[in-house]
Amino acid sequence: MEKIPQDNPMPFNRKLLESESFSFECHPGTDCFTRCCRDADMYLYPYDIIRLKSRLALSSEQFLEQHTTTAFRDNPYFPSVMLKMSDKEDKSCPFLSSDGCRVYEDRPFSCRAYPLERAVSRVADGNRTKEMYFIVRHSHCHGHQETHRWTVAEWLEDQQIKDYNEINDRWVEIDTLFRHNPWGSEGPENPKLKMAFMACFNVDRLRTFIMESSFLDRFDVTPSKIDKQRESDTDLLKFGFDWVEFFLTGKGPLKIKS
Ligand code: SF4
Ligand code: SF4
Repeated sequence: MEKIPQDNPMPFNRKLLESESFSFECHPGTDCFTRCCRDADMYLYPYDIIRLKSRLALSSEQFLEQHTTTAFRDNPYFPSVMLKMSDKEDKSCPFLSSDGCRVYEDRPFSCRAYPLERAVSRVADGNRTKEMYFIVRHSHCHGHQETHRWTVAEWLEDQQIKDYNEINDRWVEIDTLFRHNPWGSEGPENPKLKMAFMACFNVDRLRTFIMESSFLDRFDVTPSKIDKQRESDTDLLKFGFDWVEFFLTGKGPLKIKS
């Protein structure tokens, strides 16, 4: 973790927020403006890919090829997708322009949520989740010295994080399945891993696969759901998660036709 300089008046770099507010503001007037958009080690989640590829008018396949790298990072059984920084000397984000972020309305969850970090845990009955927020402080970020105060709820609203949280929660459930080596003795060499990766990160290819193979003959999917998946990447991604759950565990909302 990054060390806080001696002159830093805030005595923490990551702290659980209960009901207290925090001060922060990020705007072009800060002397650190866009410093965090260089040489960043940034994970992309499935919903990030949908938002970014639509913004850039790319297919998910093109977006993955042009803007991401994959590597086995914290999960040895499933690759993570990382945003590829530019080849420039400062390794700036490819979406950084002289005016700031050129994909701002569709920026990834990590850029959107900072300086908050979200953690989710299951409560005792196993059906509900409890969320917690931490405030994270990096020494290069002077936004923490601004005076505007926020509650967590105000920040989430301001950054339009609700849509991301809803689908990221389902992603966490699927990602948890990957963390327990669902591939058996073949490990990550199991061809099912490629199918799962497509379902989670390559939504346009998933659409072609579902609509143009015998998939819909085998699974019980209503015509209205099929229409939604044709039109909406988000609906299709949720369906892709259901499919991954089905073929890894035999459980979940997706059913084979009787
Ligand atoms: S996506 Fe935008 S906010 Fe995020 S690192 Fe790139 S330029 Fe910065
Ligand atoms: S370093 Fe902090 S205040 Fe500066 S641009 Fe990045 S998030 Fe905003």
